[in-house]
Amino acid sequence: MPLSHEPTDRWAWVEIDLNAIRKNTRAIKALLKRGTKLMCAVKADGYGHGAIECTKAMHASGADQFAVATVAEGVELREAGIEWPILLLNQVPMGAIDTLLEYDIMPSVYTSEFALAYGESAAAMDKIGKYHLAIDTGMTRIGVLPEDVLEFRHAIDFHRGLKCMGTFTHFATADNVQDWDFQLQARRFDEAVEALRDAGREVGLVHCDNTPGTILHPHHHFDMCRAGIGLYGLQPSEATAPRIKLVPAMSVRARVTRAIYPAVGEGVSYGLNYRVPTPHVQIATIPLGYADGLSRSLSGRMEVLVHGKRARQVGNICMDQCMFAVDTNPVRSYRRAQPVQEGDLVTIIGNDGNECITADEMAQLRGTINYEVTCNFGMRMEKVYV
Ligand SMILES: *Cc1c(COP(=O)(O)O)cnc(C)c1O
Repeated sequence: MPLSHEPTDRWAWVEIDLNAIRKNTRAIKALLKRGTKLMCAVKADGYGHGAIECTKAMHASGADQFAVATVAEGVELREAGIEWPILLLNQVPMGAIDTLLEYDIMPSVYTSEFALAYGESAAAMDKIGKYHLAIDTGMTRIGVLPEDVLEFRHAIDFHRGLKCMGTFTHFATADNVQDWDFQLQARRFDEAVEALRDAGREVGLVHCDNTPGTILHPHHHFDMCRAGIGLYGLQPSEATAPRIKLVPAMSVRARVTRAIYPAVGEGVSYGLNYRVPTPHVQIATIPLGYADGLSRSLSGRMEVLVHGKRARQVGNICMDQCMFAVDTNPVRSYRRAQPVQEGDLVTIIGNDGNECITADEMAQLRGTINYEVTCNFGMRMEKVYV
């Protein structure tokens, strides 16, 4: 029986629980003082969850502003009718400046060449070039160095086409509770903001905390927090888990496209590195692979859920399909699994009965972080909202 929400044209899909997104947004907003704004990072198509739907759900639950990583991501939100402020967390090629202005997407600014070109274009279009000033306080990624901030603003502030709507930095180690590097970045940021204010420069909304910072470092909320991963229900680190309850929003499901009992010794998938070891082992196929975000590095090392039980994925994960084994041997009854059939529901991420496979479990197996796991599943599979 197909689920009411499942796609009609493919037996593999991503389920997004918008209620979870709403709950998580409210839980994070509840950490903030009254009046502190919440900016939601919806880059990479909402960490794989679908930027448009997530943006709407987050706004309905108290989010004020949104952050994207590319011009196309910002334009997508605007074309979907989203009117709330959007910050692009980067500078972009000069050729994209007109698009930023046309779609009211604020860039993060840290070179005077870009800032002045942006101001010029804004003035020519009779608009205000709204931007946020990025300060590099120690992550060594983007931003003006703290010691250059005053000079930078002096070099661009004469331009009537520019308006600073915000000043921010990004922490490299906000997920550690007692961290000297965090303290150092925070102090450099405090001092830079104070110097700008003392010099009479407009700083706009001051912001620095990402999800772990928002949870672990409430003294640095300033005017706005920039949350990402927590909104999608995942913990940025072990340290944050005891401090806030979050509900994972993404599940990944598929249906069995074929299930057979190969003879003992038959191989499975490219390279045939898995061989059927005993009689009564069923090999079942599901139609998702590494092009859908199921990293090939998981081959033979991950499990899936079927009929509420774990089953071992076997053989190399292919681009669009992979296989798993179900041991139905009646002799080894302690592990005997119910045979699967074409069309049976398989869970790759999420709950089935009392069992659960989390993005954290998969991240650990891959040697990466939960962020990358959900982003990857956003690549090709259809997203359905439940
Ligand atoms: C992605 C991003 C965030 C959100 O980070 P999370 O760890 O997902 O909360 C915040 N600020 C910047 C600059 C980012 O690039």
